[in-house]
Amino acid sequence: MSTLLETDICILGGGIAGLWLNARLRQQGYSTLLLESATLGGGQSIKSQGIIHGGTKYALHGKLTTAAEAIAAMPGRWRDCLEGNGEIDLTPVRLLSPYHYLWSPGGLVSNMAGFFASKALRGRVDAVKGSSLPPVFQSAQFKGKVYRLAELVLDVPSVIQRLSELADDSLIAADSIRIERDPNDHIACVHTGDISIKAQRYVLTGGEGNQALQAAWGIEQPAMQRRPLQMVLVKGPELPGLYAHCLGSSPKPRLTVTTHPTADGQWCWYLGGELAEQGVDSSAKALIQQAQRELAELLPWVDLRQCQWATLKVNRAEPAQSGLVRPDSAYVQGVHNALVCWPTKLALSPHLSDLVLEQLKADQITPTRPQPEHHQARPAAAIPIWDTCF
Ligand SMILES: Cc1cc2nc3c(=O)[nH]c(=O)nc-3n(C[C@H](O)[C@H](O)[C@H](O)COP(=O)(O)OP(=O)(O)OC[C@H]3O[C@@H](n4cnc5c(N)ncnc54)[C@H](O)[C@@H]3O)c2cc1C
Repeated sequence: MSTLLETDICILGGGIAGLWLNARLRQQGYSTLLLESATLGGGQSIKSQGIIHGGTKYALHGKLTTAAEAIAAMPGRWRDCLEGNGEIDLTPVRLLSPYHYLWSPGGLVSNMAGFFASKALRGRVDAVKGSSLPPVFQSAQFKGKVYRLAELVLDVPSVIQRLSELADDSLIAADSIRIERDPNDHIACVHTGDISIKAQRYVLTGGEGNQALQAAWGIEQPAMQRRPLQMVLVKGPELPGLYAHCLGSSPKPRLTVTTHPTADGQWCWYLGGELAEQGVDSSAKALIQQAQRELAELLPWVDLRQCQWATLKVNRAEPAQSGLVRPDSAYVQGVHNALVCWPTKLALSPHLSDLVLEQLKADQITPTRPQPEHHQARPAAAIPIWDTCF
């Protein structure tokens, strides 16, 4: 016989969006249960670069877009959380770099110098030189320009760990989920194993899995899009820290590099940007060779001969847009007694929670039920990809 658990909010999917929302809701007094079918953060979140964007990357073609405006507040909000003064206490989270940088290998930035000095970017982008340069650019061979962005880079596994601690007993491992629908097409109940969950509202934060959840419920809208990437990973014992977008000739970064600690005491460069977007259909071998050529051209003084190389294919899952473009902000769509959500960026998880809380307020969904007690297993946290890809 199945056990019935009643809660204010039932969240389906424990990536960054579901975990952040869970922490915010619990803080506001809502009872919550979060069902995760695999590992916490194991979808896109653990595969992300951990950059808390302020939108500068979207302004590379010379003007600030709506996206840049929507995301501008995010670094400040995350910084407050890291310092213990924000909406969620993230003080135990590991900060990998207090800044992300923009670097130009040649004279390209000089064409954009006026833009970087513009009023719109004041306080968000600063030119750095000499001893203020990140150590990797302090080589005599480096002839480019470097700009420091008001953005930070986080160790995502430690974010997931912290949010799962804050979730306490609200997390449930749920390898398969059945959604029961009532005659009005609302979600009547969610079943997993020998438990059934009834909630005032259900929130779908399954990332790429939202599509299957919607199909299981029998709804088609909102539609989802996937934008694939093939990332490149480079692991070595002596790799210098590098957190930067390399500017190319297009408005998108030619290369975006972040650096992550591995369990065996080494460091891993994680390479995204145009390389990963355009390399989606390349074989792993061909893409690694291309990355090796790019790095030899851009940073010839960094010795990569002892390094191990790998690639990782992963989809970004987002609300469908015409022309497969990137959505501008976090997305929350009310459907009957549920909300279907995609943050579209890890950095935008706080924004997604704002949108959900606004919607709950508008629908007059207030905390009414105590936190349900249960004896279900808790989902494990995902293992970092730099420890599984090689
Ligand atoms: C390579 C890459 C790099 C990126 N870098 C950055 C970056 O630097 N900065 C940034 O801001 N953003 C970045 N992003 C985007 C960011 O990673 C995503 O926007 C964000 O992680 C999405 O979070 P999510 O919680 O919606 O999805 P996910 O992290 O995919 O989580 C969804 C969770 O739901 C679970 N799930 C799925 N189906 C079910 C089901 N039926 N029942 C229960 N659970 C289910 C999954 O197992 C998973 O744990 C990057 C993305 C990629 C792919």
